[in-house]
Amino acid sequence: MRIAVVGSGLGGLLSAAILSERGYEVEVYEKLPFIGGRFTSFNYRGYEISTGALHMIPHGSRGHLARMLKEAGARVEIIDSKPEGTALYNGEEVEVRKRSFPLRSKLSFALFCLKNRFREVRLSELERRLDDFSARFLRAFLGWSLSITPEETTLTKIYPIYRSTLELGGPGVPAGGCRAVVEALAEVVESNDCKIRRGSKVRSVRKEDYGFSVHLEREAKAFDVVLSDIGHEETAKLCSYRAEKCEPSSGIKYSIAIKQPFIEHTGVLFTLNTRRISGMNQVTNADPNLGKGHFLMAHQPMLTSNVKFEISEGLKDIRELLRGYEYEILAVQSYSDGWPVNRAKAGGEESVKTPLKGLYVVGDGAKGQDIEVEGVALGVEKALQEVETLEF
Ligand SMILES: Cc1cc2nc3c(=O)[nH]c(=O)nc-3n(C[C@H](O)[C@H](O)[C@H](O)COP(=O)(O)OP(=O)(O)OC[C@H]3O[C@@H](n4cnc5c(N)ncnc54)[C@H](O)[C@@H]3O)c2cc1C
Repeated sequence: MRIAVVGSGLGGLLSAAILSERGYEVEVYEKLPFIGGRFTSFNYRGYEISTGALHMIPHGSRGHLARMLKEAGARVEIIDSKPEGTALYNGEEVEVRKRSFPLRSKLSFALFCLKNRFREVRLSELERRLDDFSARFLRAFLGWSLSITPEETTLTKIYPIYRSTLELGGPGVPAGGCRAVVEALAEVVESNDCKIRRGSKVRSVRKEDYGFSVHLEREAKAFDVVLSDIGHEETAKLCSYRAEKCEPSSGIKYSIAIKQPFIEHTGVLFTLNTRRISGMNQVTNADPNLGKGHFLMAHQPMLTSNVKFEISEGLKDIRELLRGYEYEILAVQSYSDGWPVNRAKAGGEESVKTPLKGLYVVGDGAKGQDIEVEGVALGVEKALQEVETLEF
């Protein structure tokens, strides 16, 4: 079976690597000169500045992505965070554990879940019933890991993510950062004699009697199956059918070189008393090769559509958090529209299917119910199951 993959983001490369391992003939098309989409990095003055991700895999070595990287035969070492996270609250840093949350809030949460299991109730309603620490933690957690606010999501969407975080645990950092992950996947694809064609934009995909024809600017090629890593909307445009619009989540990321360490551990520091910044990580604690000296990253969701204003609020937070430290902001990157934090606001589950049999969507526009790349991995797993059931 010949399979085309449109886009070499994490979802596209993970699919391609596993399919190539299973013996399929796979060809990946990437419009940019580099692979990895929002899950890679470039070295800038000795620091691995990422194109998107904060160099973190949400459930570390125990998660869905780690399991599927193994299945693909990709050689990736994931350094699990210890502790998983701390929270900076009223000037004090506390380890985030079950016992960090007051009993009253734990009971309110349990009751709220029981009462609203099957209802679309906003998390801002839950937030109002929690004590100050727990309410602020909820907001920071959603801002950091999903780039959304409690107003934007519901209990039914977030509950599976909460369950999997309890079950699989917190994050890890891949040695070499996200670039090492996509490079390891590309190595698998290429070692199986499959091609990755960089700088090759797919202009259209047409349904044919035999399967699909994939059209670039000056050539077309026949395939049995197409996996698209560019979201449902863009895929529909390539294939001339209609798809529902999905709402992306947007955010801003700050890459900071800092002389003295600001965080002492390899996990996330959630910032609970800030205007915008939800959290920070210092990835050089997990892998010193990710930056010379200490490399700190901060992330915020966008609360308004005014990017300049959002950045000025984020920078105020950073100035307050890092008062007394010697640091330099290396990059401020904003993410929305065609290059968002998430193509579909996180939570819930997006289908991998399209109206065309044999055409499936992978990547963060077709995620399973989990955080970021863990959800991407679950979506890929579903799409591959669909491919396996096709008959030719
Ligand atoms: C600021 C930020 C921080 C994040 N932090 C984390 C994190 O720490 N941990 C985590 O798990 N997730 C994180 N994420 C989310 C994660 O980066 C994404 O979920 C993931 O990278 C999406 O991968 P994807 O498969 O959807 O592909 P994408 O990254 O969307 O890649 C799609 C590829 O398709 C190519 N393409 C598009 N159109 C065409 C065409 N017509 N022909 C050929 N190629 C085409 C694009 O150039 C691109 O390379 C973060 C995202 C952002 C923006």
